Amino acid sequence: MKDTHIHTHYSKDASRDATFEAYIKKALALGFTSLTFTDHHDIDPAHPLFREPIDFDAYIKDFNQVKKTSPIPIHLGVEVGYQRHVKEEIQSFIKKYPFEHVILSVHYLEKKDLYTQEFFKGKTKEEAYDIYFKTCLEAIETIDNFTTFGHLDYIPRYAPFDDYDYDYHKVVIDDILNALIKKEKALEINTSGFITEKRQYPKEEVILRYLELGGKKFTYGSDAHDVKDLGRYFKDIKRDLF
Ligand SMILES: [Zn+2]
Ligand SMILES: [Zn+2]
Repeated sequence: MKDTHIHTHYSKDASRDATFEAYIKKALALGFTSLTFTDHHDIDPAHPLFREPIDFDAYIKDFNQVKKTSPIPIHLGVEVGYQRHVKEEIQSFIKKYPFEHVILSVHYLEKKDLYTQEFFKGKTKEEAYDIYFKTCLEAIETIDNFTTFGHLDYIPRYAPFDDYDYDYHKVVIDDILNALIKKEKALEINTSGFITEKRQYPKEEVILRYLELGGKKFTYGSDAHDVKDLGRYFKDIKRDLF
């Protein structure tokens, strides 16, 4: 088993105890065969916590040092947040470092934070969710050098609304899935959704539709921000479906 979405203490929203070494120790206890570390890189983030970016030169130095003695393979990754006004900066950032795994995610909309719910003010559920999905599509079409699309459909997590109606957003979701397939990118199965939505991201209908359209590539990630969450809910993924 592999976990390909993990945040260490380098990410400002992760536990201070979440070191590379601590995750490796936990991975051995769980019988995981490899880990991919994917700390955050959001350019011009609305959330003040992320304004000071990670020093990736120092990060990679630290990672390479740990890699030398790690008993299991560890891989260098990153989770990049898409925003339209910094698309060129995102592309050059990805090219600058030797990442083996790039998760493309949408964390901000209209330069507003989802977490603080600022984005949702004055919008209906359908309007807000539609903007989110359209931005995901734009991200996939705009950015080239990524591996997988992160936590598609996690939007209800921070919204003051309940989960979305798949049929209502089916057209844009089809466009997203077709864009991933066309660009030969993976769809991430992100298990952090089991905490709030009691399901993985994305929901089952989306995974089945991706397969129906010919999608084959999946990555699996816990989105752990603490060592205890490594590989969380992996056993709840209905793997027989896909
Ligand atoms: Zn994310
Ligand atoms: Zn993440």
